[in-house]
Amino acid sequence: MPVTVVRCSNPGCRAEAEAKIAAPWKDGAFSELKTYAYSCPEHAEVLIAYAEKRPKPGHYSPGETVGPIATYELATI
Ligand SMILES: [Zn+2]
Repeated sequence: MPVTVVRCSNPGCRAEAEAKIAAPWKDGAFSELKTYAYSCPEHAEVLIAYAEKRPKPGHYSPGETVGPIATYELATI
């Protein structure tokens, strides 16, 4: 099996990502993590701040909710 190495999303950073910056997204019975970026331990805060500043989608469907942005360990997903 090929091993995919995910790199940190911070510009210029070549470190291997250990977490993803994501928000729990739910639409009725269906839920998933909405991924904004991948992060090494050093850049998690920078990338969370960047994700929070990104413009939100202008329209949500009824019953659609997006939770707070947080880090999720890649190994647990
Ligand atoms: Zn990094």
